[in-house]
Amino acid sequence: MKKDVPVRPEIRALRPYSLVPETPVPVKAKLDFNESPYDVPDEIKRRVASRLLARRWALYPEFGAGRLRRAIATSAGRSPEEILVGNGSGEVVLAALSVFAGGGGTVLLTPPTFSLYPQLAAIAGARIAEVPLVGDDFALDEEALLAAVRANPRAIPLVCSPNNPTGGTARREFLRRLADAAPVVLVDQAYVDFAPGEASALPLVSECGNVVVFRTLSKAFSAAGFRIGYAVAPPDLAHEIGKAILPFNVDLASEELAVALLEDPAPARARVAEIVAERERVIERLRAFGAKVAPAAGNFFFVAPPGGGAEAVRTALLRRGVLVRDLGGSAPGRLRVSVGRREENDLFLAEFSRAVKEAT
Ligand code: PMP
Repeated sequence: MKKDVPVRPEIRALRPYSLVPETPVPVKAKLDFNESPYDVPDEIKRRVASRLLARRWALYPEFGAGRLRRAIATSAGRSPEEILVGNGSGEVVLAALSVFAGGGGTVLLTPPTFSLYPQLAAIAGARIAEVPLVGDDFALDEEALLAAVRANPRAIPLVCSPNNPTGGTARREFLRRLADAAPVVLVDQAYVDFAPGEASALPLVSECGNVVVFRTLSKAFSAAGFRIGYAVAPPDLAHEIGKAILPFNVDLASEELAVALLEDPAPARARVAEIVAERERVIERLRAFGAKVAPAAGNFFFVAPPGGGAEAVRTALLRRGVLVRDLGGSAPGRLRVSVGRREENDLFLAEFSRAVKEAT
């Protein structure tokens, strides 16, 4: 007899996080996952492989991940006590949500934002309140967000800056005010390496004492195939968040890759500069073509085809091997497009204008 298995209602209600695996043949430009178009250089791959061969795979990674945390701390100009590492940054965001808002607390989101957040909130058992972004530029509604925090002083804002999928950033001065008003502020900066330096929220970690910043090596460092993310938090908060993370969560291979990437960051910086230059070039072309493009500070941009028909344009691009993202209900009329290599971007531009002409 089938038992009535007690699945929590908020989990039952979730649609599983899905990344539609449509693969036309052949894929000519994969611009749908905000991955880096540049792989980790062969020389670094070889260095990591030889270091891995020299290690004993039968042993757990270092307890507490001290070496990895020191490498991250050095590269971020922070101290190791402020660093928590994760199997991707999503894991550390989940831990922080569990600790600060789990079991019936409230997390404050600014949709359209990273589609994984509602799932993380549900897993943590946190409720969601929303203060939507405003206008064609999808700007943070700063005063509304502050008002929402004042109305619910226990709500925990989770701000994504640069925001996936819209691309905009939160001003540091605003985050400072938010940190003044809220018990703790979570800032997801997965894409901050592609943004101007003043977008970094790291100075607020020590200045405010209640700001936690999340970062990843998946984007600027081209390491999405391994899972390496981290949080920078005041040491007392890092201590508490750390209790919600399982031991040995970052494996040997990810640890070795992270250390190698961080000790030689020049190649990654050069690739970031190329991606940023390409982002600006493509956006200028799109605007000249009549498309609306929101201000973009990540390795992607959020575009409305002139004349509408975003879904038709996406399907037409897909048929020609150019993969981009349609955020569907959360931002109708817009497509999120990752910045690729120059030739991929040129192909996107050509196929985009062809698809727009066909759709209108
Ligand atoms: N935050 C944001 C805003 C993201 O877009 C992503 C990846 N899509 C992540 C966090 C997670 O990155 P990872 O788990 O690869 O570190």
